[in-house]
Amino acid sequence: MRLDIITVLPEMIEGFFNCSILKRAQNKGIVEISIHNLRDYTTDRYRKVDDYPFGGCAGMVMKIEPIDRCISALKAERSYDEVIFTTPDGEQFTQKTANALSLCNNLIILCGHFKGIDYRIREHLITKEISIGDYVLTGGELAAAAIADAVIRVIPGVISDEQSALSDSFQDNLLAPPVYTRPADYKGWKVPDVLLSGHEAKIRDWEFQQSLERTQRLRPDLLVDSINDNILHDGK
Ligand code: SAH
Repeated sequence: MRLDIITVLPEMIEGFFNCSILKRAQNKGIVEISIHNLRDYTTDRYRKVDDYPFGGCAGMVMKIEPIDRCISALKAERSYDEVIFTTPDGEQFTQKTANALSLCNNLIILCGHFKGIDYRIREHLITKEISIGDYVLTGGELAAAAIADAVIRVIPGVISDEQSALSDSFQDNLLAPPVYTRPADYKGWKVPDVLLSGHEAKIRDWEFQQSLERTQRLRPDLLVDSINDNILHDGK
């Protein structure tokens, strides 16, 4: 997968992609990440990428031209599956979206700033708008990093044990079961006996029951989603 991130603050996220699993994914050649400084695409002599809003409201708005020039330059090199804009009024980012995006070859993520971007960009250039939650950040960089991380970690080969991404929370609309490591007894805080039994089938069954119980208790909405998904699949 190739991922192009457009931002006015490249230094804010460069470090993020140069650590740990995401760095290894790039070294293995599974993903190529390119971060573009929007100011490199402006013709303004002060490299200005924002301007006052029409209508006189507060704040600054990101201009069309540099964003259009940057996206056009990228599109001239390859075709993109999606041009994503991070925005609090976009569709809520979920594991399902991450899984779907992980199947794409080329993605652009545009980070907004200030009051947001000139709406015409959203109408004409953006194909998908994503929010990472109902709160407002100062810029789209953290959102882009969160989206990229969740997408990349489910690409086969990125996490060494492929099963481990599939058994995480939200896959199959379930929360993950609790996990433990040595020692089996710490100051009397004990690991559940079943996990020490060596009985594979019983352990898997315990994990599933834990997942179900925790989902019912903490996120019953996920089970409703699951029922709706099954109805949709059966209806096809
Ligand atoms: N005026 C906008 C908020 C602008 S915040 C509004 O009220 O909707 C500045 C930028 O930060 C946004 O353009 C967006 O790119 C990013 N951002 C802020 N909160 C976000 C969120 N919850 N999810 C994704 N991006 C977000």
